[in-house]
Amino acid sequence: MVAPPRSAYLHIPFCHKRCFYCDFSIIPLGDSAQAPGSPGISSINAYLDLLHREISISPKAPALSTIYLGGGTPSLLKKNEVGDLLKDLQRKFGFQDGAEITMEVDPATFFENDLNGYIEVGINRFSLGGQSFDDSTLALIGRKHNRSQLIEACDLVNNLFKKGMLKSWSLDLIQNLPGLNLSKWITELEQAIHTEAPHLSIYDLTIEPDTVFGRIHKKGKLNIPIASEAQKIDFETNRFLKSRGFSRYEISSYSLPGHPSRHNRAYWSGSGWWGFGMGATSAPWGERFSRPRTIAGYKKWLDQQESQLLERTLSYEKSKPMPLDELIMIGLRRREGVHLEELAKNAGWTQKECDKNLELLEKFWLNSLNEGSLLRNNGRYFLSNPNGMQISNQVLIQMFMWWDSLGLD
Ligand code: SF4
Repeated sequence: MVAPPRSAYLHIPFCHKRCFYCDFSIIPLGDSAQAPGSPGISSINAYLDLLHREISISPKAPALSTIYLGGGTPSLLKKNEVGDLLKDLQRKFGFQDGAEITMEVDPATFFENDLNGYIEVGINRFSLGGQSFDDSTLALIGRKHNRSQLIEACDLVNNLFKKGMLKSWSLDLIQNLPGLNLSKWITELEQAIHTEAPHLSIYDLTIEPDTVFGRIHKKGKLNIPIASEAQKIDFETNRFLKSRGFSRYEISSYSLPGHPSRHNRAYWSGSGWWGFGMGATSAPWGERFSRPRTIAGYKKWLDQQESQLLERTLSYEKSKPMPLDELIMIGLRRREGVHLEELAKNAGWTQKECDKNLELLEKFWLNSLNEGSLLRNNGRYFLSNPNGMQISNQVLIQMFMWWDSLGLD
């Protein structure tokens, strides 16, 4: 049997508008999303009813140690709405002492009072979606906020942190955005340090086909940094942040000592998690399940779940461990990598199967091991930093080729 999850993710799918690179499951509400009496407010209310229904039919399980409200833009919710969701989760599962309760917030969607309200109802960590400090870049990627709103948002969050009202906070930036080069990126990093955020998530831009960027890219007109410049940018991120005391504990995550995201670490360790909401993925007992990405689809699915007693997604008896290839894929994102034999034995492999199959995996990984992008120490395999982390895809492709060659699915 798989250990019960200790983490929960709640998806809040509302945004003012869709950013040009984003293909998340969201509902754009327009500029008046937060205005009293606006259609946006009734959409939010109707969705929250569904979310409460889904939490209420979830089976009882051990207390949670991490909770994450992501989106979308959860800061479009009022403090009582956030508080009611947390109360529901607490009633259902309970929270462990010191549970990490994170909420994503976007600049230009909150005032100081709102942040105080979220803290009052239980939030103890914010993750701020900054993406860039450059006004022209922000406009180019379709963000609603501008540079001065981002700086103001960072100040508000950081003041609460310095007063001891938050355990930590994180700032998101995207490297490799259109028009960026190494010198502009160094300016972005300097400004990120200036905010005093103790945790930085630095994502690579991914071009998704069904987005504005996907369409522009298809026409060859998206001016993103070429591969060699992107590599320099990534190396510089690592060098610069290391020199400021940050440690890269996962491919996209840098933190000062004591500030890694426990929620994300739980996810990358292969532990199960509850997921609630439209488009949310969950893996309560190992196997992943994604909910429908539209509100109508989600409502229909929820109606079925209520009538079928959750047989499809939440039944413990139907539990299957997460497939080994997935565990290796997410585990390799972490600085400490994976202990292959331990993972394989947990997945039910015998010693004989481990010896045979893992020896074969080493052959698929031979090039990566020889060139030093993948390192090995006492049965543990991990990506070197920065070289291995930069070309993690190559190592993962070799691993998936190995997995396919075993014919286990
Ligand atoms: S704010 Fe975030 S979730 Fe919303 S559209 Fe932009 S990137 Fe997507």
